[in-house]
Amino acid sequence: MPVKVAVNGYGTIGKRIAHALLKSPDFELVGIAKYNFDYSAVLAHRLGMKIFVPRDKLEEFRKHGVEPEGSIEDLVSEAELVYDASPAGRGAKNKELYVKYKKPAIFQGGEPPEVAEVSYNTLCNFEKALGKSYVRVVSCNTTGLLRVVCSLGSNAVESVFGVIVRRASDPKEDLKGPVSSLALDSAQIPSHHALDAKAVVGDLAVETVAIVAPTTLMHVQVLKIRLRKPAGFEQVVESLESSRRVLLLDAAAGIDTTGKLVELARDAGRPRYDVYENVVLASSLSRSGVELTLVQAVHQEAIVIPENVDAAYAVLNLETDVHKVVEKTNKLLGVGELKYLITTGAK
Ligand code: NAD
Repeated sequence: MPVKVAVNGYGTIGKRIAHALLKSPDFELVGIAKYNFDYSAVLAHRLGMKIFVPRDKLEEFRKHGVEPEGSIEDLVSEAELVYDASPAGRGAKNKELYVKYKKPAIFQGGEPPEVAEVSYNTLCNFEKALGKSYVRVVSCNTTGLLRVVCSLGSNAVESVFGVIVRRASDPKEDLKGPVSSLALDSAQIPSHHALDAKAVVGDLAVETVAIVAPTTLMHVQVLKIRLRKPAGFEQVVESLESSRRVLLLDAAAGIDTTGKLVELARDAGRPRYDVYENVVLASSLSRSGVELTLVQAVHQEAIVIPENVDAAYAVLNLETDVHKVVEKTNKLLGVGELKYLITTGAK
């Protein structure tokens, strides 16, 4: 029997989680919570999703021809697991509802780490999330950074220094900036990404500096990683590629900007041009002794979706073997398929 799952909040992350769950034989999407009426309620309704709204919004949705299935409380009470994809900081308040109905929940990176028992990344600490009631999937940039570190093996990494060029806003967020400046993120060093990475891999020596750039497409990270022991180039490539969550892109693909990467995803038929993989430019990958340098693009809207799906298997104890979970989720979302469109060719 598929497990009944709810998605509370149907924005950038929530709609992608909901669409992933719709395709999975292991989960049944019991419904989504919408807080304001807009076109996405109509599209979700047409796709057959059940829509739950705050009690005082029932009439507003009806007026526009979308019959709500019930209230947010009804949705939570029907589900066996809730994904909280609310605006950053709201999930911690929503938790009261999940506690009231004794429902496990998966939170997003905009919440403080204390909201959950575990801050999570599949390749780093899947086992720690097994059977937990509250798990937090860390932010997009931290997910990108941790995938690299844990693909190499966190024990194999002595330290990481990362410069993150962070997209200023998602495409739909018209009013966020900066529009022309580059700005130090949160005016602090290290940026929250390093702290977040440590919330997952406690003893990781990591420092990050994040600069906010006027773009909506993707983040770009420059990572300098010091390994504990020298590793051969082939070994590094194999480690990075093994989970298929990291795509090494050869220069021959002709992609040297985030804009071209978006075009690749569109041409490959990815929904919403979602790039679930870290995209490492193979030409940037250099290794000298114990030092490894790479440049990677991270699609902020999509990168945490595989980890969100994986986390459900852990929380519900549906599958305890991380390799099987990664394989299932990769298959569900087509993660790793882009590799077969482009030969890696890394040398
Ligand atoms: P969003 O603003 O696109 O979507 C949030 C949705 O939640 C909106 O549709 C809003 O109407 C709805 N909502 C309003 N009040 C709510 C409530 N009380 N409970 C539940 N939902 C409510 O936000 P997003 O970008 O999808 O971000 C969601 C979470 O994911 C945040 O924690 C964010 O930090 C994290 N995250 C975002 C990105 C990204 O690039 N957008 C990447 C990784 C993680």
